[in-house]
Amino acid sequence: MKISRIDQFFPRHRIRLVRITTDTGLVGWGETTLEGRHRSTHAAVDEIADYLVGQDPRRIEHHWQHLYRYPFYRGGSVRMSALSGIDQALWDILGKHHGVPAHALLGGAVRDRIRVYAHWGIADLSDETQAAARERLDMLQRTGGYTAFKSGPPGPWRAHEPPSVIDQWVKCAYLMREWVGPEVELAFDFHGKMAPALAIEICHELKSMRPMFVEEPVPQENIDALKLVSDHVTFPIATGERLMSRWEYREVFEKQAVAFIQPDASHAGGISELRRIAQMAEVYSMHVLPHCAIGPVALAACMQVDAVTPNFLCQEQVDAALGNGLLTEDWKVTDGYIGLPTRPGLGFEIDEAAAQGRVESGEELGGVFRYEDGSVADW
Ligand SMILES: [Mg+2]
Repeated sequence: MKISRIDQFFPRHRIRLVRITTDTGLVGWGETTLEGRHRSTHAAVDEIADYLVGQDPRRIEHHWQHLYRYPFYRGGSVRMSALSGIDQALWDILGKHHGVPAHALLGGAVRDRIRVYAHWGIADLSDETQAAARERLDMLQRTGGYTAFKSGPPGPWRAHEPPSVIDQWVKCAYLMREWVGPEVELAFDFHGKMAPALAIEICHELKSMRPMFVEEPVPQENIDALKLVSDHVTFPIATGERLMSRWEYREVFEKQAVAFIQPDASHAGGISELRRIAQMAEVYSMHVLPHCAIGPVALAACMQVDAVTPNFLCQEQVDAALGNGLLTEDWKVTDGYIGLPTRPGLGFEIDEAAAQGRVESGEELGGVFRYEDGSVADW
């Protein structure tokens, strides 16, 4: 079996797909979405195709090694996202070739269903925001039975803020706890935009409402700063959606900098690398909550690894990841879980006509933020 062609699709906002076709007629799908960098990733996939067309798609590890290590320069979000989607598509082909789900080829499932969390929160205390939040919470609990939710403090945060700013958002968090009760888990994503001291201060305010975790409290580049936050906070700290490959995770592990890691199957190096990162985490008593804020193929790739990972805790997903009109059958959430994928490969069928659609890219990550003095703020 040889790879005969590689095609790319941009059917939805924040969803970019790659399809690998073989000379036997088998096809595999992967997701290469890298928000805000879709043209660069498209070019990176084209460069990968120059190498991959004509190769046997079943030699996944060999191709991973080549694509990671050649030609000379390594890493980066663009190359790693391109490699990630390609790796997913190769696993899709391998599973279909053997007539089994990819997780059966990764050692076999260690669980029967996969717990997922949804994005929900109360961004401010206005009547309109609370009404919209109530409506969304009711919808998610009614349709999916979710028992875990994540949200985060909106907008830019300076190195320090007055009590009124901090208190307003902390009140939102306590109101969320009041609404959902003690049976439900609530997590908060700081999007790497806090200074360490402010992150610690806010975490101390949150402590009594018992968060599941706080994610990316500080910018990603300084693992010591992350460890500083972890050392001063009693509940779990999480990170990892912007760490590419096990080499970028190494310092997080060795410094025991967090409790939970969040590698992304469409950025960290695909199913192959997500599996390896998860296995490294097990050694450090860290649990894995794979990041997935994009489309349904990326979610499928995450779930193949979730299935075989003993130290898996919960899978992130957004509404668009359940199908978004791109699958012949949506992923179904019941009682907060998605059933173990059982179909060959990654476990879905793409609606090919829907995948052929094309959206023009717009702003993919919610705009540009500036402080009141005009200087650049983190998203
Ligand atoms: Mg995040």
